[in-house]
Amino acid sequence: MELRKDPITRSWVITGDEPVETTKQEGCPYCQGAPDPPQVIASAGLTEGFPWGARAVVHPQPVYRIEGDPSRRGDGLYDQMRAVGAHEVLLENPRHDRQIWMAPEADIENFLSLAAQRIQDLKKDRRFKYITVFKNHGAVAGQEFEHPSSQLTATTFVPRRVLYELRSGRQYHVQKERCVFCDILAQEERQAVRMVESIGDYVASCPYAPRVPYETWIMPRAHQAAFEHGVLTRHHNLRDLASLLKRTLRRIRTITEDFHLVLHTTPNTLHKSDVLDYWRTIDEDYHWHIEILPILARKAKSYSFKEVYFTPVTSETAALRLRGANIE
Ligand SMILES: [Zn+2]
Ligand SMILES: [Zn+2]
Ligand SMILES: [Zn+2]
Repeated sequence: MELRKDPITRSWVITGDEPVETTKQEGCPYCQGAPDPPQVIASAGLTEGFPWGARAVVHPQPVYRIEGDPSRRGDGLYDQMRAVGAHEVLLENPRHDRQIWMAPEADIENFLSLAAQRIQDLKKDRRFKYITVFKNHGAVAGQEFEHPSSQLTATTFVPRRVLYELRSGRQYHVQKERCVFCDILAQEERQAVRMVESIGDYVASCPYAPRVPYETWIMPRAHQAAFEHGVLTRHHNLRDLASLLKRTLRRIRTITEDFHLVLHTTPNTLHKSDVLDYWRTIDEDYHWHIEILPILARKAKSYSFKEVYFTPVTSETAALRLRGANIE
């Protein structure tokens, strides 16, 4: 695998000819008593009746490898680098049948703490510019493991979508000296047409310009740039976030089972890039959030033309339906 930069859009892609898939092993490799247990990197909390809670393990077929330097180099006008990074599986629960929307809040807190710990830990490695935590659920979403899990990647570049957000956040701050995310949240709470639910300091709402039907974001109401900072300093009540995440996924699952979820937090600010210029006011201009992108398989065709996102359900209608969903 190697990373190549598109010289026009300046976004990095990872490419390589994948080896032919090996035969799948019997049984779940992540359940207790698996014959060939995975290499554990870290764990957080305890689940009742199990010797562990949430755990980070090495991905069996990592896209990024931890050893070595990115050795960035040119090839004529092109840029490429080695796929150096980290690729982990975050086991959300020791129980095979406890997805986030089924789990007790205490278990979800373990998972959120684990994600925060891993992000903070990997940010100590100066090679890594960004750590992504994401979950693909359902065959259409590209789910890899049956066991309740998310994945984490640490990369030597900032993913394009996050870069857009960082640049916009910074530009908005230059003009107004305010956080664009805080301003959006304040307006959403005032208008109250795209709000799904709020619990304590956390808010779930549908974005004004959704990319897919029922797209939903979860954000802390009080300004906070880095997710891991908020979680590890116990600045916010983690139980409320766990509860809102669970309830929001339950709502979305009344519409569709498949979804992508991604956490957006600050990049590694040990990397002070003069080119990108995003770190100076980052604590004031960026605001972490969780994005949930449901997949409506039957409708996929109608919005597969991705040059312009076409979303056949407005966020006002989506929020109304999600608010009214029966999740008990
Ligand atoms: Zn399992
Ligand atoms: Zn903010
Ligand atoms: Zn985002």
